[in-house]
Amino acid sequence: MNRTTTVSEPAREVEVVHETDVLVVGSGPGGLAAALGAARAGVSVTLLERFGCFGGNITAVGVEGFAWYRHERTVDTEGVGIEFEERAKSMGAAVEEPQSDSHAIDGEAFKWVADTMVEEAGIAPMLHRLFVAPVMQGNAIAGVIVESKAGRQAILAKRVVDATGDADVAHRAGAVVQKTPKEEMIGASVMFSMSGVNKKKFIEHVKAHPHTYSDWAYGQWTIETTGKEDDMFSPFLRKPFEEARKAGLIPENLTTIAGTWGAIYDSGDLTYLNLVHLLGYDGTDPNDLTRGEMEGRRQAMLAIEAMRRYNPGCEHAKLRNFGMTLGIRDTRKIDALYNMTGNDVREQGRFDDSVGIFPEFIDGYGILILPTTGRYFQLPYRTLLPRGVQNLVCAGRITGGDKVSHAATRNMMCCTVTGQGAGVAAALSVKHRQPFDRLDIALLQAELRRQGVRLH
Ligand SMILES: Cc1cc2nc3c(=O)[nH]c(=O)nc-3n(C[C@H](O)[C@H](O)[C@H](O)COP(=O)(O)OP(=O)(O)OC[C@H]3O[C@@H](n4cnc5c(N)ncnc54)[C@H](O)[C@@H]3O)c2cc1C
Repeated sequence: MNRTTTVSEPAREVEVVHETDVLVVGSGPGGLAAALGAARAGVSVTLLERFGCFGGNITAVGVEGFAWYRHERTVDTEGVGIEFEERAKSMGAAVEEPQSDSHAIDGEAFKWVADTMVEEAGIAPMLHRLFVAPVMQGNAIAGVIVESKAGRQAILAKRVVDATGDADVAHRAGAVVQKTPKEEMIGASVMFSMSGVNKKKFIEHVKAHPHTYSDWAYGQWTIETTGKEDDMFSPFLRKPFEEARKAGLIPENLTTIAGTWGAIYDSGDLTYLNLVHLLGYDGTDPNDLTRGEMEGRRQAMLAIEAMRRYNPGCEHAKLRNFGMTLGIRDTRKIDALYNMTGNDVREQGRFDDSVGIFPEFIDGYGILILPTTGRYFQLPYRTLLPRGVQNLVCAGRITGGDKVSHAATRNMMCCTVTGQGAGVAAALSVKHRQPFDRLDIALLQAELRRQGVRLH
């Protein structure tokens, strides 16, 4: 039988179901911050999301360590990201984080916190819609096509913010994007939580056998620090898995099961278990995503059994939940008008077009630097602007930069900085009819300042 390698899709008319000034695609820390920033700048805003909740990795993956880098001398971001943490605290959706001067966000309850913030800001919510294609007028984006249970529909927008984490919009619209080679990408993780943990016994054991950040160097992992991080406490777990390997429960060659726990509740819930690391998976390849989900769950169940047997306090614990989806850290990034460098984040980069600051926190590609000294860098507006597509601005972990800069800018609080900057830029671009690459920076910075952002 002859096999055809392509099929033809018939051309079709797609109904326009909605129009908006600013459309934000993706609702993680970057997208949620963008939507809030744009709405507060006084334009109509729509927040589009493929899943049934806003929050991105926080809610869909269960990444709860929102500001685990913060210590006494940290000079932190100011703006909507801090509001996320404060609202989560005031709505009972956060708990003290064990290694820092911060709160871990309750990934489940944050779904409701995000709903509340979206409603209060008057943002049009659009859940359960997958962006599949841009609507283009020449090289300018004019809206998007979505797929949902209702079929294929169009949404028109004067400006679009790509906050998909994977640069889906920028890529499909023809912007130049790049990916780190798959073998070098930061690993993917199935995140999970456990219930039925004896908190008292668990914490007593942690105190009796404390771990430090130098323990992150382990098996095939190496870790570059400045030295000051090495003796600091880290909620790291590795001994139960070593025991399990010795006992034959975990295969000898499976050395990547180890990592951090992020929060423990009086109810016996141990959450944000970041113990499974899958290397060589590309989050834009559905075959890799399928393998990662299944292999990740298999490894998570091994990790739970190891903790039940070898970690005091976990004897009667069980799986509480897996993240709704595989946690992806590293895929497409845009080629921006300015691509940030390792030097910018290591050496307190300063920019005239700053949209906010982020402390000197670098975590990824084998580097861990904690902001314990008060050093910080600024984020330039130009790092949000993709080359080749008009009316599109980018937010979150897809902004332009090299590997080391991404080890800083991918962090959730930093994604809220680029998010708020992108959202406000989109709103002002509509209001003042200025294209993104000719936006009045003084106006942008004045509005960000009015919204409580620290720029310098
Ligand atoms: C396992 C893991 C642990 C991590 N630990 C930490 C940590 O402790 N601290 C920290 O600061 N950072 C951590 N990170 C990194 C951080 O979570 C991400 O870099 C950050 O969430 C990126 O934010 P974002 O808004 O760019 O994208 P995301 O949070 O990924 O949000 C993107 C959103 O876009 C939606 N979307 C994607 N494609 C489409 C589409 N085609 N149509 C519609 N919607 C779409 C997604 O559903 C999602 O809601 C971790 C990441 C992982 C995976």
